[in-house]
Amino acid sequence: MSLLDRFSLAGKVAVVTGASSGLGVAFARGLAEAGADLVLGARRADRLEDTRRTVEAMGRRALCVPTDVAKPADCQALVDAAMAEFGQVDVLVNNAGIGTAVPATRETPEEFAQVIDVNLNGCYWMAQACGRVMQPGSSIVNISSILGLTTAGLPQAAYSASKAGLIGLTRDLAQQWGARKGIRVNALAPGFFASEMTETYRPGYLDAMIHRVPLARMGDPDELTTAVVFLASAAGGYVTGQTLAVDGGTTIT
Ligand code: NAD
Repeated sequence: MSLLDRFSLAGKVAVVTGASSGLGVAFARGLAEAGADLVLGARRADRLEDTRRTVEAMGRRALCVPTDVAKPADCQALVDAAMAEFGQVDVLVNNAGIGTAVPATRETPEEFAQVIDVNLNGCYWMAQACGRVMQPGSSIVNISSILGLTTAGLPQAAYSASKAGLIGLTRDLAQQWGARKGIRVNALAPGFFASEMTETYRPGYLDAMIHRVPLARMGDPDELTTAVVFLASAAGGYVTGQTLAVDGGTTIT
């Protein structure tokens, strides 16, 4: 196998959650470009169709499954649908997430719990459902955040806790499933990338944060997608349990 062939996902089936907008769309496109067929999960069925058309225009197959990752039954149903359509699941990109910023003294139990339900618990329900059917050589990529590793000037207890928790989940599943199942489990910690989530930040926030970024700019989603493909493919075959910050160096400052 040539070095570049190791990045190929030809013949593989990849699940991407939160594939209706933002980074999830970029990941679906990148995984398709690397040769994978796609199973797309998100709550908004109409917007999933746009991603499906994008993947199919690249010559790959795509299955859309409306999914709320906070519901374990939805996660199992997505994987059941994937197995019925393709007979295999090789890659899971746990991308679905919500971002909130609420001062700690004002955050309600419901607000806090909802973020944990989606960003942390949802990744676990998806990993469980996929882990039951994945064969050796499979790979899970959890989309954490630099907020799992550091702070960024906003009151984000729920978001930070969920993303730090996801790094712990990554470590533990990697050790549970490494030798026993041959499944690698890693996390990405993105820095600042333009998306619907970052559009909700107050004016001036991102400009102020860029001063903390050694590369002095926001990331391009393709720069994250290449890391997803690396971790998802045989190119990352000896990497498991790790959290890779793709953040222009933000976490070293
Ligand atoms: P986004 O809001 O555009 O995308 C999030 C996606 O998750 C959406 O498609 C949304 O519909 C979906 N989603 C939310 N709740 C869901 C649920 N319960 N079930 C299924 N799908 C659900 O934002 P994004 O920036 O593309 O975020 C993608 C991931 O990247 C998130 O996990 C986010 O925390 C992480 N992240 C983003 C950045 C950034 O700068 N954009 C930085 C660090 C981490």
